[in-house]
Amino acid sequence: MKTIVMIVVCMLVMSAACDIERPNWGETALNQKLICRANMRTIASEELIYFAQHGRRYAESMADLGLADMKCPAHGSYVITVENNSTFFTVACPGDHGSIANGITSWINVDE
Ligand SMILES: [Zn+2]
Repeated sequence: MKTIVMIVVCMLVMSAACDIERPNWGETALNQKLICRANMRTIASEELIYFAQHGRRYAESMADLGLADMKCPAHGSYVITVENNSTFFTVACPGDHGSIANGITSWINVDE
């Protein structure tokens, strides 16, 4: 019983420490860009899964990917473009956060 109490106390202390050390994910411009780029990586990953499951063609809309609600926190809806007989996709932020073309990011360092 004493061991269980100690474990619970340790968990409480650790969770309090995590609260203190958690990064600030407020709505700063840099955080919005990082969230946007993480979203675009998610969209690109979902495109690859869609491609594999739908006859080797990319989805042409966020709704097709099941991501209709995912938006850039600063600039709104993403733009998906599918070309070359549905074998090349680009997902782009409507603002200035960049794009991913067939899995290749337009940025080198994620926070540049
Ligand atoms: Zn964006």
